[in-house]
Amino acid sequence: MKTNTEILTEWMNRKASKWKANGFKMFMGYPDAWWDRWTVVCTTGHVSNMVVKSEVHGSLCMECGCKCVIIAPPRTSERFIMSMLNGKRLRPAS
Ligand SMILES: [Zn+2]
Repeated sequence: MKTNTEILTEWMNRKASKWKANGFKMFMGYPDAWWDRWTVVCTTGHVSNMVVKSEVHGSLCMECGCKCVIIAPPRTSERFIMSMLNGKRLRPAS
């Protein structure tokens, strides 16, 4: 059973490799455009443009305090993230 962090990170990395293959400029493993529209999702599925910075735990969700990871625009709806985390069938992220 994968953790939510693993599911999100794998999804994001798959998308990042596609962007890279299409010639987009990358920074720290992710396309520049993602950093321009910096968006995070926490491991329970909240989407936000703000985090609480913690020296020990890194970036934390403003709503629930869970760990956050960067995610790609344009798939930033909480509904999409929640269904992915709940294992519902989704069309493959393009
Ligand atoms: Zn949260």
